[in-house]
Amino acid sequence: RRKPVVAANWKMNGSRHLVDSLLQQIKQSGVDQQLDVVLSPPATLYSYVDDAIKQLELNVILAAQNINELDSGAYTGEISAHLAKESGCKWVICGHSERRSLFNESSKVTAQKFIKAQSLGMKPVLCVGETTEEHEQGKTYSRLTAQIETILHLGGIDAIKDCIIAYEPIWAVGTGKPASPKLAQEVHRFIRGMISAICPETAQSIRILYGGSVTPDNVDSMFKQPDIDGGLIGGASLVPEKFIKICQAAL
Ligand code: 13P
Repeated sequence: RRKPVVAANWKMNGSRHLVDSLLQQIKQSGVDQQLDVVLSPPATLYSYVDDAIKQLELNVILAAQNINELDSGAYTGEISAHLAKESGCKWVICGHSERRSLFNESSKVTAQKFIKAQSLGMKPVLCVGETTEEHEQGKTYSRLTAQIETILHLGGIDAIKDCIIAYEPIWAVGTGKPASPKLAQEVHRFIRGMISAICPETAQSIRILYGGSVTPDNVDSMFKQPDIDGGLIGGASLVPEKFIKICQAAL
């Protein structure tokens, strides 16, 4: 059985106070001992979270929400993979739909970030997903194929071997309308099938997460699906009680 992953993507939200209360509740619940619990706060909180994880002796994994694909230079406001790593990040979210749509990140730039993270020993979490329009036009699978192939073109098969994939249909992100568990399972099975065609030995071990309006109320049926190995949680991860419940549903 694949070890489940539940990741909190705080986006541009949270505070030191919320870090304290979430990590304390994780400690009390013990969920970090049983699955991969990931916290991805805004960059200004990376070091704070890293220190708190060590102090509380938690197994929580700190993830960057984004990195720049370049090593260093005159790029005001940007954060390199090296800086994220120095602040304690172990994983890096790459190609979140908000990066792609609001900050014009192409699949190629996403792939560059993905490879950069791996080159520094950080695990990329590749977000893929289709827009409402693509969904309605039946273009989901071709969209996902293109997004994953860009990684293959730049990094080869080895790049795919050590990553997490998160399926986040854009129409389900922040809308309160998650994909049905049946649809999500079909898409996850498609992604695993695609990985199997590229690299059969990775298909059974790679973890594929679902993201998009996951809450304690809908998570059970989602996590029951055979190809869904956990979730990438936005809004509900800002409420510690809800996030812990979602983690417990993955056990
Ligand atoms: P919501 O859970 O708020 O829909 O966000 C999902 C997401 O984008 C996680 O990365």
